[in-house]
Amino acid sequence: MKVLILIVIAAAAMMQACAGESDAKILKPEDYDAPKNEVCPIHDAKLQKDVVPLAYGDVRFEPEYLEAVRTRFPHANDGFHNAHNAKNFKFAEVLFCAECRRAKEKWLQNRKTPAP
Ligand SMILES: [Zn+2]
Repeated sequence: MKVLILIVIAAAAMMQACAGESDAKILKPEDYDAPKNEVCPIHDAKLQKDVVPLAYGDVRFEPEYLEAVRTRFPHANDGFHNAHNAKNFKFAEVLFCAECRRAKEKWLQNRKTPAP
């Protein structure tokens, strides 16, 4: 499951690189219920704007991952999902914390699935 999530994120990032953002429809924060934070409560860093790949459908995350999101990197926002009302969009504009993204990367690296 962890590996699958990484693959999905990597594939989405590649698609973003190939598609070019100019001709893709971008979901804006006013189109969804975007959080209104301007500063990351964990890292006390100002949030920055980014455009990230948007994924559809039900995504089930492990409880440990969701706990880490909540307590370690709430504003990594390197992907966007759960967008049931946004079928025409390929990307979403989000606010993210650079420290959260670094924390998420580190957390994922430390959780690499051991070889079977
Ligand atoms: Zn942060």
